[in-house]
Amino acid sequence: MTAGKLMVPHSRPTLGEEEVQAVAEVIRSGHVAQGPCVQEFERSMAAYMGLKGAVAVGSGSVALELALLALGIGEGDEVILPSYVCTAPWLAVVRVGALPRIVDIQPSTYGIDPEEARKALSSKTKAIIVPHPFGLPADLTRLQTFGIPLIEDCAQTLGAAEAGRTVGTVGIATVCSFYATKLLCTGEGGMVLSNDPAMIEKMAALRDYDERPSLEAAAFNRKMTDLQAALGLRQVARLPSFLAKRSAIAEAFTRLLGSTGLGLPQVPRGRTHVFFRYVVRLPAAKDDPGTLQPPLEQVLANLERRGIQCRRPVFQALHQYLKLEGFPASEEASHTALSVPIYPSMTEEEVRATAEALCEELP
Ligand SMILES: *Cc1c(COP(=O)(O)O)cnc(C)c1O
Repeated sequence: MTAGKLMVPHSRPTLGEEEVQAVAEVIRSGHVAQGPCVQEFERSMAAYMGLKGAVAVGSGSVALELALLALGIGEGDEVILPSYVCTAPWLAVVRVGALPRIVDIQPSTYGIDPEEARKALSSKTKAIIVPHPFGLPADLTRLQTFGIPLIEDCAQTLGAAEAGRTVGTVGIATVCSFYATKLLCTGEGGMVLSNDPAMIEKMAALRDYDERPSLEAAAFNRKMTDLQAALGLRQVARLPSFLAKRSAIAEAFTRLLGSTGLGLPQVPRGRTHVFFRYVVRLPAAKDDPGTLQPPLEQVLANLERRGIQCRRPVFQALHQYLKLEGFPASEEASHTALSVPIYPSMTEEEVRATAEALCEELP
């Protein structure tokens, strides 16, 4: 890359003076571990989600683990989850000693395919982990009909709706991540929320190891600090403006990329999309519809050379790590889906440069 050329990173947190002030105040207060800011952040997130309680923890991964533990899931139990997702949900299931049952996604939404989930149900199924991928709610309405507890993974989606309900309000537990590049940033961090007081109590108890009436092997240090929570509080207050900006950028991309051969994001009727990611599909080659022209690797490298950092939306599908066959939609997504930079701090110039590079690479 030549010096001075515009470089558009794939992700960038939106942090400003407000966040600097908030963290500085915590440092001056002398109370930097889990304390009043964590409590306030929990209240603030529970209010935003419309849920009764929240437990802030060190990461989204830990939040998933707490939800599974609080449901009493362990050895001999099965948990259903989709293949086309980051490894965190699979790792959480394995960490509590349960068996992950991986199923395919719906090709157009990237959400877990309810029909495939239904086929994977057994007498041992104790929960379904439902990621809402890239900002779009999964098909909660159909997943709910199985009568199996749903753990909603909202790490990529907040504020979006399905059938008139906001994501996070349908499952027995809802998991958030506040990793640097997520919708809300605390550096690292996560939260698990629920409407069930017993669940909330169990999860809060499992987050700390000290000052307990008895030794419990599952107890651990899973806490968030007030330094992180102070950041989180500022970020939640800004969330509506973040989502408005994302939506405006997505509209611009949809307009600017409409004439390319790219498959643009689909939003099924009755759902809203908050565009954590703007995921496009590479077109098939004109002479051979079975192959891509050019392949994803090449497109990523060409765009990078132009200073536009795109990414695979999922590094590798779970069935690929596990060398399993029979996941055609996840397999296809891993070869054709491309995540385009989108975040609230993107400038108009960056949006235009990104769209231009895509139009030139994939006319
Ligand atoms: C980021 C993410 C997680 C894990 O969150 P961490 O805070 O990184 O542990 C889990 N599920 C999904 C869908 C994610 O995007």
